[in-house]
Amino acid sequence: MGRDTSLTVVGTLRLELTDPTLREWEATVLASGPDGIVLDRSAFYPGGGGQPPDHGVLLWGGVQTRIEGARKTADEVYLLPADGEPLPPSGTAVRGALDDPRRSALMRTHSALHLLNGVVYRDFDLLVTSAGMEPLEGRMDFDLPQVPEGFRDAVQAACNAEIAADRQIVVRAMPREEAFAIEQVARAARDLVPAHLTEVRIVDIVGLDVEADGGTHVASTKQIGGLEIVKVENKGKGFRRLRVRLTDG
Ligand SMILES: [Zn+2]
Repeated sequence: MGRDTSLTVVGTLRLELTDPTLREWEATVLASGPDGIVLDRSAFYPGGGGQPPDHGVLLWGGVQTRIEGARKTADEVYLLPADGEPLPPSGTAVRGALDDPRRSALMRTHSALHLLNGVVYRDFDLLVTSAGMEPLEGRMDFDLPQVPEGFRDAVQAACNAEIAADRQIVVRAMPREEAFAIEQVARAARDLVPAHLTEVRIVDIVGLDVEADGGTHVASTKQIGGLEIVKVENKGKGFRRLRVRLTDG
C-alpha cells in the first residue's frame, strides 16, 4: 500500500536564524499539500515576536511558485503559496529566494523596535507589553499612566542618538539561567519563554538592550536609518501605544 509521504516530514533547517543576510539558497521539498510546502532548508522567517512572515519565490524546472506567508510548527516551516500557484511535488529540488526589499525593511524595523525598547527601559523604566510591525512601520504598547512633558521628542532624540552611535547588534544562544540572570531579560521575558527551552536566543544591542527574541536583525544600529515617533496614543487606563516610522536617515 502507498504511504502518505506528507506525514514523514523530518524538519526544516532554519537558515535565517544563523544568517539573516541570506536571500537565495538550494533546497529539497519534503512535503507539499493544502497545508503548505515544507523544505529541508529554508530562510523564510515564519513570523513571530511581532515580525510578520517573509514573502518570496520557489523556482523549480522553469516554474515559479510565489510564497506570500509562512508559519511554523515545532520542527517545520510551512510556506504558504499565493492562490492558484503551482505546488512543487515532494522530492523536487528548488531554489528559494526572498523578497529582499520586504525582508531588509523588516530587519531594520525589528531592530528599531528593540532600540526603542532599550531607550524607554533605560530612560523611563518602561516595560513593553506587546509590539508589532510592518515594513518600515511599527508600534509598541506599554503602561504609562502619565506621559511626561516632552516624552515624544525626548524618545525620538535618544533613539536617533543611539542609531548614530552605531552599536553592534549581536545574536547568540545562551543557557536559560544565564539569560535570566540579565535583569532586563528576566523582567521582560519571564512569561514569554517556554519553560522547556534550556537555551534562549538573545538579541543584544551592545550597551543598550538585551531581549530574548527569534527574529531577524541588522548588524548594527546605523543600518536602521532614521526613526520618527509618529504619535503617542492613549488607549485608556494608562495603556499607551507608540507608533514609529523609519526613514532613510
Ligand atoms: Zn524582537
